[in-house]
Amino acid sequence: MLEKMEILDVDKVIEEFEAMTKDAENVQRQTLKKILEENGCAEYLQNVGLNGRTDPESFKACVPLVNHSDLEPYIQKIVDGPPSPILTGTPLTTISLSSGTTQGKPKFVPFNDELMETTLQIYRTSYAFRNREYPIKNGKALQFIYSSKQSITKGGLIAGTATTNVFRNCQFKNAMKSMQSQCCSPDEVIFGPDFHQSLYCHLLCGLLFREEIQLVSSTFAHSIVHAFRTFEEVWEELCADIREGALSDRITFPSVREAMARLLKPNPQLADLIHAKCSALSNWYGLIPELFPNVKYIYGIMTGSMEPYLKKLRHYAGDVPLVTADYGSSEGWVGANINPNLPPETATYAVLPHIGYFEFIPLNGDVEEPELVGLTEVKVGEEYEIIVTNVAGLYRYRLGDVVKVMGFHNKTPELKFVCRRNLMLTINIDKNTEKDLQLAVEEAAKLIAGEKLEVIDFSSHVDVSTDPGHYVIFWEINGEVSDEVLQECCNSLDRAFVDAGYLSSRKVNSIGPLELRVVWRGTFQKILDHYLGLGAALSQFKTPRCVGPTNNKVLQILCGNVAKSYFSTAF
Ligand code: AMP
Repeated sequence: MLEKMEILDVDKVIEEFEAMTKDAENVQRQTLKKILEENGCAEYLQNVGLNGRTDPESFKACVPLVNHSDLEPYIQKIVDGPPSPILTGTPLTTISLSSGTTQGKPKFVPFNDELMETTLQIYRTSYAFRNREYPIKNGKALQFIYSSKQSITKGGLIAGTATTNVFRNCQFKNAMKSMQSQCCSPDEVIFGPDFHQSLYCHLLCGLLFREEIQLVSSTFAHSIVHAFRTFEEVWEELCADIREGALSDRITFPSVREAMARLLKPNPQLADLIHAKCSALSNWYGLIPELFPNVKYIYGIMTGSMEPYLKKLRHYAGDVPLVTADYGSSEGWVGANINPNLPPETATYAVLPHIGYFEFIPLNGDVEEPELVGLTEVKVGEEYEIIVTNVAGLYRYRLGDVVKVMGFHNKTPELKFVCRRNLMLTINIDKNTEKDLQLAVEEAAKLIAGEKLEVIDFSSHVDVSTDPGHYVIFWEINGEVSDEVLQECCNSLDRAFVDAGYLSSRKVNSIGPLELRVVWRGTFQKILDHYLGLGAALSQFKTPRCVGPTNNKVLQILCGNVAKSYFSTAF
């Protein structure tokens, strides 16, 4: 019997979103009230002396701004048990491990059913708008999603990465079905114990269901690029598996083998077809639509630290649109992409006023302690650090992200993600953000952008062991480049940091010549493996763009794999 499928009523979702955003200020008040009422008995809220008040003014007067380290004692108590209302009225039973790729080590953040519900609300909202632009029919999605193991903490809580907690939640699958975006791979592949093996099987499943694939997605765009780079290496093996109907020996886990055996039958025609298509491509341009003729769009977070992968993704995508996914974090969601036709470079995220209470610290201007403003009070063109209060026990939590208000949808702001606030190259008066680094790398990489050459990945470090200190930029390149060209790249990088503090410091040599270190092929894969070893999920992986002195292991990997190094002669 055919399973009855509830298809999401996208018009209704849009209607509700419109109503909510028209009344954003009131919805924010109500959301805060609800959060404070439901969690009023939590130890944390009891300690700040709210005494049952739920209005924004009392909330701001009593509750301090915090970052993760301020909450660590509370979170540790939750993790160690016994269950009690510490951050939330109803004791938490699940905890998320954030990816930790920005700070160097994973951190615990609260997760609960209410947070899961906000995740689904974000998914539904952006899907509704996306589907209006790019309708998908009843088909399948090639989703590069991976779920790391969940473990049990001393206090009996389930702990896993946020994406793992979402993918393993029983509501996730139903939600994907209702959005006609069901993953083409069996659960055994998604939940497989080894991501290399899962990735191979995802690719294989995608090929087996190639006609049905409507979209290709992952949480962060990096995973999609990573997947197709892997495809370039294993495509002949994949074709052989399809031809013979027998799975490669590289897949060793019995549960994964059994699940794949149910799908795999000898199919020489399909193997020939894929082989012919791949052989005819020039440098893999347009690979995705060749493999998946009915794909409507490619979907995943493509802004912020994912922007450096866009060029490669476009190369694989050919003329298939790239649509950036929503904006949020392990700590909670913020906004949905409701303008899916915008390219990722200009994409914005409309804040959902009912999924949390949002405040903003203005960053423009010279005021020492600027006054925080509410969701509906932000100004177009201004940059802010975003503060979140949510349904999972975070109150006035500094997410650490900088956003820019690009406009309003009704009364709710549309935000552009700018950068992480604390990711900064700085030695003295210079200040360069992740975005500045990205722009510098883009500029310098033009010098090698000839035939097939590209910067696969990059990172940076401030080296103060020299006097004066200097910036070090690490590049992994996919081929041989002459010393002369790399020296030029190094000079170009140095010149590309146009921050006044950097320029003036370089001119008087209070910052030393920038150093470009080219690392061996596979170095960034080692960094990825290192984070996976720490329990991070590939789905949430973000290459650390600036490696601080405390991130010893990653620094060791980078410094231990340097093939060549150059010092700038630009100044
Ligand atoms: P995680 O700790 O793995 O949950 O990562 C959360 C962080 O990823 C956020 O604080 C942002 O810095 C970044 N992030 C999430 N969504 C987006 C997005 N749509 N655009 C840019 N950066 C994002």
